[in-house]
Amino acid sequence: MVEICTTNNSLRLRYAAEQFFAPLTVRWCADGKDLYAPEKAIFYQCQSNQGVVIGPSVRDWTSLDFFYTEQPNDWGNDILLRSSEIDVFEVVFYLLARVDEYLNPNLDEHGRICTDAFIQQQWSGLNCAYIDLMRAEWIARLGIEDTFRSAKELTIDVDSAYAFLHKGMKRTLGGLVKDLIKFDFRNLSERCRALMGGEDRFDTYSYVLSQAKLHEWKARFFFLLADFGPQNIGLPFQSKGLQMLIQELDKHTAVGIHPGYHPWEEYAQATAIEVNRLKEIVGRPIQESRQHFLRMQMPDTYRLLEALGIQRDYTMGMAKEVGYRAGTSRSFRWYDYQQDRISDLEIVPFWGMDSAMKRHKGWDIATAKAEIISAMKEIEGKGDWRMIWHNETLSDAREWKGWRGVFEQQFK
Ligand SMILES: [Zn+2]
Repeated sequence: MVEICTTNNSLRLRYAAEQFFAPLTVRWCADGKDLYAPEKAIFYQCQSNQGVVIGPSVRDWTSLDFFYTEQPNDWGNDILLRSSEIDVFEVVFYLLARVDEYLNPNLDEHGRICTDAFIQQQWSGLNCAYIDLMRAEWIARLGIEDTFRSAKELTIDVDSAYAFLHKGMKRTLGGLVKDLIKFDFRNLSERCRALMGGEDRFDTYSYVLSQAKLHEWKARFFFLLADFGPQNIGLPFQSKGLQMLIQELDKHTAVGIHPGYHPWEEYAQATAIEVNRLKEIVGRPIQESRQHFLRMQMPDTYRLLEALGIQRDYTMGMAKEVGYRAGTSRSFRWYDYQQDRISDLEIVPFWGMDSAMKRHKGWDIATAKAEIISAMKEIEGKGDWRMIWHNETLSDAREWKGWRGVFEQQFK
């Protein structure tokens, strides 16, 4: 437990401090006389010669009437060294409420938020779990025992469950014809082998499950069930083979929805349909989600997911970078900064994605392994660990040859 003495009653302050110290609970006291252990308490905007005092903030950020019009420039560029001098709860609020995503709404070619203007770029970049490191330091400074235990999970996006199988007669024949026209005999022979009962390149599920079991990590699969389109190249959701795969994985591990890529004016309706498709397949309400292409709009996507009954969203990360978009590797409750409310939606961050490492960072296998080692070391005992992999990239074939070694680096 952490005790905070303050007369400030703000929802924002409560949110930031409670998310920061979780799973430790926060005991709020308006009067220092009510503290159990004043020598280990935080005195927020009030004076004391005991405990740790956090002085007044430059801004009235805890007021619900206050909205940032620009990034704070008084935190300096070495936030980790200054976490005891500044209002740490304001930093936590700013990062977790994703204020930058409202202030700098520049989008990339897929309509995703650009990371260039994030405040972390003024510090030591995106690849640092600032909040987790500051939390560990604060707990040590206060001399409190921590009950936090790191969680490690495998999360797999399934955009296309099989390379060749269960796609329906029309697409299977179309694929055969395409291989022939393109003289792609390697694909043709793989396709024929798979169709005759041999192996399908994207069928890496038993590999993932065996790795998860061996290392005692939880595995989660997010399935794309959108109608076929340029960016949604999954199997038809009616496919019996696909449905059986989902049901089988749902028995042994966790399954969530992977809402498809749609024009913004259509995505709410399409997402509702896709969530319902998965619900019908597994016969239970769907609680977990991650956006295909990590494509989301703040705050609309989160409000939609909440309305659809989703309890945990796993999209909080970056498509072209590695690191921590919200400055933390640990899950937290989403704060709706426009409506000033603490939502019920839990945000579950990840560090990096297979395609970000290979295609956008341009890393080879050795570099990717070294980066994973260093990122895992940084948050050891202080944060959680998740990456995004795809069933396709775990095929260890073609352009992904050798990448199973990168995947397995996580367990070492
Ligand atoms: Zn996807």
